Amino acid sequence: MKKGYFGEFGGCFVPELLMPPLQELEEAMRDIMPSPTFKEELDDLLRNFAGRETPLTYCPTLSKRLGFSLWLKREDLLHTGAHKVNNTLGQALLAKHMGKTALVAETGAGQHGVATAAAAARLGLECIVFMGAEDVERQSSNVRRMKLLGAEVRPVQSGTRTLKDAINEALRYWIAAQETTHYCFGTAAGPHPFPTLVRNLQSVIGRETRAQMLEKTGRLPDVVVAAVGGGSNAIGMFHPFVDDASVRIIGVEAAGTGEPGCYNSAPINLGTPGVLHGQMTMLLQTKDGQIEPSHSVSAGLDYPGVGPEHAYLSAIGRVHYGLANDAEALDAFQTLCRTEGILPALESSHALAWVLRHHGELPAGGHVVVNLSGRGDKDMDIVEQHLHIS
Ligand SMILES: *Cc1c(COP(=O)(O)O)cnc(C)c1O
Repeated sequence: MKKGYFGEFGGCFVPELLMPPLQELEEAMRDIMPSPTFKEELDDLLRNFAGRETPLTYCPTLSKRLGFSLWLKREDLLHTGAHKVNNTLGQALLAKHMGKTALVAETGAGQHGVATAAAAARLGLECIVFMGAEDVERQSSNVRRMKLLGAEVRPVQSGTRTLKDAINEALRYWIAAQETTHYCFGTAAGPHPFPTLVRNLQSVIGRETRAQMLEKTGRLPDVVVAAVGGGSNAIGMFHPFVDDASVRIIGVEAAGTGEPGCYNSAPINLGTPGVLHGQMTMLLQTKDGQIEPSHSVSAGLDYPGVGPEHAYLSAIGRVHYGLANDAEALDAFQTLCRTEGILPALESSHALAWVLRHHGELPAGGHVVVNLSGRGDKDMDIVEQHLHIS
């Protein structure tokens, strides 16, 4: 495959001025990351700061109801409440080894901003987070968390004042600050080498799952399922299983309200190929290439694009990308709370919702793993609004 490409997807469509820091990053990935020192330091951070390894939890009640064994990979138990810290600790440590003194990041709902701020504080790096002004208002508790962790939050007033605009501003900032600053990108998307870097850092999810399944059941799972926003928790779960033909792999995109013609966050199912944020990928866009607004009840899935490796895995038919809508995710959220005693993030609830709806197509007596990418405490207000419980 062409370097930086996944089939026809991926690449590095950026202004000339961004090429030097991206090349520097690619070299650092090659020269620094494989070293035993780097690996040991990252392993120590993941274990003793973030809380790895995370459990693989068997769900007794739902398994009985569904007719197969349901397992959850518990990324919700990590420090800062989601898988994102796997990536930010890796990139912060790499930045430090590269001699950088600061991180810049974008954030939508604020989860990646918080995970970046925590990693920066831990490793003694400055931290600037670009966030759409609209999101700053909607996600005030994460803004407060970032500030308490010592980060500077810069509201972005351009465009729709959301994630897509924050990424543009962060890339622009990086051009000027590349000497001292690493861009800690939040998902397995963007220009090469970010999709590969983030995937490699998140693959710890799938590697652990594989070993845990073998230890607990003596076999590989029959099905692994994860929600897809930009695609980092999903590719982290999927990548170590891609070469195992016996393992069915399901990505779940957010269908939004699910009504025809309404905004959604499902570019693989409902989008077309195009270029955004430095990559060729599947996008929600008009016929003449204007990016369309995305919508999902879950802020973390609300992105009009998707990482290029997912676009590729869909195109070659290795991974099936299904849909779950807002109402189904809210139902799955409640189901998991009440049957298994776990509050899942609304993002992760989409993956569970797909399993609940399609359980008849899954192998009776088999083993199904859902990646529980984050915890749902952050979503309580939204859930209560929709469910009218208080
Ligand atoms: C950010 C987030 C996601 C979506 O991002 P990906 O890069 O697609 O993983 C999913 N789940 C949780 C809990 C998140 O915070």
